[in-house]
Order: sequence, then structure tokens, then C-alpha cells
Amino acid sequence: MSQILLLVEQKENRRLLLEWLAVNYMVLLPNSTGEIDDLSQFNQSFGMGIIDGLALKRHWQWIAAKKQAEHPVCLPFLLITSRSDVGMATQFIWQTIDDLIIAPIEKIELQARVEILLRSRQLSLTLKLSHDQLDRSLQTAKELNDMKTSLLYMIAHDVRNPLNFIIGTTQVLTQYKSKLTDEKTQELLDKTQAAAKGIDLLLDDVLQLGKFESGKMAFCLLPLDLAKFCNELVGEFQSSLKLKPQTEPVTLIFVNHSPSTMACLEASLLRRILSNLLSNAIKYSPPNTQVIFELKVTENEAIFSVQDAGIGIPIADQERLFDSFYRAKNVGQIPGTGLGLNIVKKCVDLHSGEISLSSEEGVGSTFTVTLPIAQLAE
Ligand code: ATP
Ligand code: MG
Repeated sequence: MSQILLLVEQKENRRLLLEWLAVNYMVLLPNSTGEIDDLSQFNQSFGMGIIDGLALKRHWQWIAAKKQAEHPVCLPFLLITSRSDVGMATQFIWQTIDDLIIAPIEKIELQARVEILLRSRQLSLTLKLSHDQLDRSLQTAKELNDMKTSLLYMIAHDVRNPLNFIIGTTQVLTQYKSKLTDEKTQELLDKTQAAAKGIDLLLDDVLQLGKFESGKMAFCLLPLDLAKFCNELVGEFQSSLKLKPQTEPVTLIFVNHSPSTMACLEASLLRRILSNLLSNAIKYSPPNTQVIFELKVTENEAIFSVQDAGIGIPIADQERLFDSFYRAKNVGQIPGTGLGLNIVKKCVDLHSGEISLSSEEGVGSTFTVTLPIAQLAE
């Protein structure tokens, strides 16, 4: 029901208006019956106001301020005046008043004007809503555009290093083929392959991110043996760790705590979650330390945790870690784009799961992912 503020000091008009309007609208009246002096009680919102000349003279500044506060939404005011008073209307009246009725008031005319003024308020409200929506869409489009630009910069920046490396090694292989030992040739080939794989993974992540953002990500729950799945993933990481030039690389250990590990999850999302967590744990750990990857499957959920004894994450950075491109202050020269955990978070959310982090700078980090698992059909 629309609310109408009635600021009419002339007694008879006030009585009449109240009687007619109260049937269809909620009428707000000042406490005083004579001169209206305190309007602070009407700071709440109302749909329109009806005022007479006496009240207008006293309160035109309050009305102008009220209308200004609601701008661009229109807050209409209807003036009730006598024919002889119309001439007295000075310019301030036309800044605050949207329509007038000349007394003696006719009920039908009053109803028509009130309805028209309330409709114009409604229209301006609808317009404001569409305008706000448009603003929001523009903002989203701008954010998306900014994101695409940063993705482009990121690709250009991150692809260049491994690409230069590949160009360099292939040049060495071509020019010094005969002088290189078999061992050295194999080492260069392995490094070239690792660099190409790095580019492939990066592009994969970028494409995946694009699919998430546009809501085109396919979601397919299939029964998986989680222990087998994790073991295979760990195997892949262990082989690539062997390629590292360090004499004492990080040791990756997998521990399964559950006898039965069959569960329905989305394999590609799960792979992305775990690969990113494992590669972070390895990347941010010094040589000769351990990364412990644990799995626990209960009746309703699968819990994966990845614990490292690496550089840790400063408390101040922990809150924003899942934002795109965010990297903690202590990464130093360790390469990265700050996209991995953002993708992990999106994959976890798609699974309606949760991710938590416990970390201390200089001591290590543990990421724990809990995913609800669909029950397997008997
Ligand atoms: P990439 O996109 O290549 O994965 P990244 O590793 O920098 O780059 P994220 O995986 O999103 O990006 O991680 C975000 C940041 O979180 C990292 O830059 C790092 O500061 C911090 N971080 C993540 N995992 C660890 C970890 N295990 N130990 C220490 N810091 C971590
Ligand atoms: Mg990462």
C-alpha cells in the first residue's frame, strides 16, 4: 500500500483528504493538528506528499532536501491551494511542487492526480532499477575485460620464459649435435619437454578459467577409486621431480587412511585441485624436505590434505590467497602467476566442498580440501 504524507494545516481540507485517502492508501500525519513544525518524524520513506500553502511556506526547504535525497527517483508533492493563493506562488513553489489542485477539492480529481503522481514515482523507481542493473552489467563487463587483459599479459609473460628456453635448447641441440654426449643431449631434451609441458599446463589453466567464468564447465560425477587416483598422480609428480637438477629434491609421500576409497567425484576437477596443491607444496619447499599428501574417505566426504615444510604463507596474505593473480609477499624469485589456487577454489566450489589452510611463515603449510561424495549405487 502506498504511503502518502499529508502536510495540510487547513483543518477542513485535512479532514476531507484524510477521509478520502485513508480508504486506499496509508496516510502519514504530523502529530500536531495546527501548525506543523517538526518534520523529523517523517525521515522514513513515503510515496508522495500532499501539502497546502501554509505548510509549504514553512517547509519548502525540507521538501526540496527530501526530493534531492531521493534523486533521480521522483518524490512527487501535490499542492492544495485556493484560486486566490495561486498567484502568490513564488518560484520556490515550482521547484518543490509537481502538481496542484485548486480548492474546493473534488474527490475524483484528487484520486486521479494522486494515482498519476504515484505512477510517475513508480516509473522513476523502475527506471532507476534498470539503470542500476545496467551499471552492474557494465561493471561486470569491465571486470571481465580487465581479467582478459591481465590473462593476456600473463600468457605473454609466462609463456615467454619457457619458450625462450625451448628456442635456446633446440639451437644448442642443432648447432652442437656432434659435440654433445648422449647424456647431455637427453638432459636437454627432457628439459625442453618439461618446458613445453609447462606451457601446456598454463594454457590449460587459462582455458579452464575461461570456461568457469562463462559457466560452460561440464560437470560429470563418476565412480573413482580415490586411493588409486592419488597414487597415479603422485607417481607423475615423482617422475617429474626426478628430472630436477637438485641432488636432494623434495620427497613426496602419499598416505591413505581409509580401507575403502571408492567415491563419485569429477575426475578432471579433482585432478586440477590436487595437482595445483601438490605443485605448490613442491614449488614452495626447499630441497631435502617432505611433502605429505593424505587421503581420508568417510561415509559422506573425501578429505585430502597436502602438508609441506616450505616457506609458509604470511598471515596478512592468507585471506586473499584465492583471488586471481594474488601472490604472497614472501615468494621471492619463485615463479608463478597466482592463478592456481583461484582455480582450486572454483573446482572445490563446483563440488560444494570446502578448502582450508593452516600455515606459518618459515615453518610450512597444510591445505585441506573436503569434498562431499555422492553415494555409490548398490
Ligand atoms: P600458479 O598460477 O603458477 O600456480 P602461484 O603458485 O604463484 O602460480 P597459486 O597457486 O594461486 O599461484 O598460489 C597463490 C600464492 O599462494 C602463491 O603465489 C604463494 O604465495 C602462496 N602459496 C600457495 N601454496 C603455497 C605453499 N604450499 N607454500 C607457500 N606459499 C604458497
Ligand atoms: Mg600454484
